[in-house]
Amino acid sequence: MTQTEERTPTTTDRSPGEHALADALAQLKFAVDLLGYGDGLHQLLASARRETRVSIPLRRDDGTMEVLTGYRVQHNFSRGPTKGGLRYSPDVSLDEVRALAMWMTWKCALLDVPYGGAKGGVTIDPRLYSKGELERVTRRYASELQPVLGPDKDIPAPDIGTDEQTMAWIMDTYSVNAGYTVPGVVTGKPVSIGGSLGRSTATSRGVAQVALAALQHVRVAPTAATAAVQGFGKVGASAAQFLADAGVRIVAVSDQYGAVHASNGLDVVRLHEHVAVTGTVLGFADAEPMDPDSLLTLDVDLLVPAAVEGVLNAANAADVRATVVVEGANGPTTAEADQILRGKGVLVVPDILANAGGVIVSYFEWVQGNQAYWWSVEEVEERLHQRMLAGWTAVVESSQQLGITLREAATVIAVQRVAEAHQIRGLYP
Ligand code: GLU
Repeated sequence: MTQTEERTPTTTDRSPGEHALADALAQLKFAVDLLGYGDGLHQLLASARRETRVSIPLRRDDGTMEVLTGYRVQHNFSRGPTKGGLRYSPDVSLDEVRALAMWMTWKCALLDVPYGGAKGGVTIDPRLYSKGELERVTRRYASELQPVLGPDKDIPAPDIGTDEQTMAWIMDTYSVNAGYTVPGVVTGKPVSIGGSLGRSTATSRGVAQVALAALQHVRVAPTAATAAVQGFGKVGASAAQFLADAGVRIVAVSDQYGAVHASNGLDVVRLHEHVAVTGTVLGFADAEPMDPDSLLTLDVDLLVPAAVEGVLNAANAADVRATVVVEGANGPTTAEADQILRGKGVLVVPDILANAGGVIVSYFEWVQGNQAYWWSVEEVEERLHQRMLAGWTAVVESSQQLGITLREAATVIAVQRVAEAHQIRGLYP
C-alpha cells in the first residue's frame, strides 16, 4: 500500500458526494446529541434502510452499447413509503444519493408529509444523449428497480436532469410490467396522466414564500429588497419570477453557462422569453455578463442558491454579503460555510424547509391520485402556502426557543418525528 492510500482523508480530499454525506451526518449528529438519543438510535437514523445499485446497459443510437450505473437509496420507512427525486447528472455517486435521501427523510418529516426519504440517481450527462437514449436509460432503470418501487413502497419524482417526461416513462414501464396502470408510482408526472396542477412550479413557489417570510423576519420590505438567484432552472427560474412579482428586485441570475447582472433589476418575464429561445441567460440584452462565482458574494438582501450542492463553502462563505440565504437547492451550503455564515449573522433558511414545496405538492398529487379526484390549482396553491408557512413558523419558534440556527432547528424537529415513529412502532422481531 502506498503512502497516499494509507493516510486518513482530509476534508479537501473528499469528493462532492462524500462531502454532502459528511455534512448530512454531522447535522444528524447535532440533532441526536441535542435530543439525547443513544448510539443505537443514532446508528439507525444514520444508515439507509435499503440501497440498490443497478447496471443499465444502453444501446446508443449509433448501435454501440455502454453500461451506466444507477442508484436508489431508501433512507427511512418509519413514517410511510419513501419519496424523493431521481437525478441524472455526471456527478451522481452513491454517497451523494445517500445524503440526498437522508435530507428527504427530514424534509418530509419537517413538513409533516407522511413519507420517509429516498433518492435516485444515474451517473450520466443527459445533455450528451438523445431523447430516445434517455428513454431507454429511464425504462431500464425503472424496470431494474420495479421490485422496490410502488405507490406504497417508494415514489420517485423529478430532480436535476429529469422532468415530467421521465416520470411518464417510469410510470409506463412500471405499469406495463405490472399488467395494469399504476399512476401513483411517480409524482411530478404530466397532468394528462394524473399529475397535479401546480406541481411544476411548487418548489419555486415555496422558495419564494419562505424567502418573503425571511425578509419580513429581518424587516426588509419586498419592494426594498434586492436578490441574486444562482441557477435559472426548474427551481430558480420560477422562484425569481415569483419574487419579482412580489416586488423584489432581481439583480443577478446565473445558469450552467454563465451569469447576468443588472443593478436596476432584471425584467424576469423577458429573461424567461430569452431563455426559452436561446437556452441560456447569457446574451440577455438588458443586462451585463458577470462572473458566476461573484454572484454568490453580491451585496444583496437575498441570495437564492438554486443549483447544486456545496456552492457556498469554506472558500467563499466569508465573502457572502447577503442578509438572507434561502436554499432552493439541496445542500448548497457546506458545514464549514454554515459556521462562517452563522458567525457573520447571515440568516440561512435550510433546504429541507425552503425547497419542500415540491414534495408537498408531490404528496398532494399522490393523495389526489389515490382518491381519483383532482383539485383546482387554487386549492393546491392555498394548501401549499399553508404548509410552507406552518413549517417556517415551527422552525423559527424552535430556533428561538433553543437558541440554535434554523437548519439545526429544522433537523431537530424532523429527527424527533422520525425517531418517535420508529419508537412507537418498536423493533421487529
Ligand atoms: N426532487 C425534489 C426534492 O428534492 C422533489 C422530491 C419529490 O417530490 O418527491 O425535494
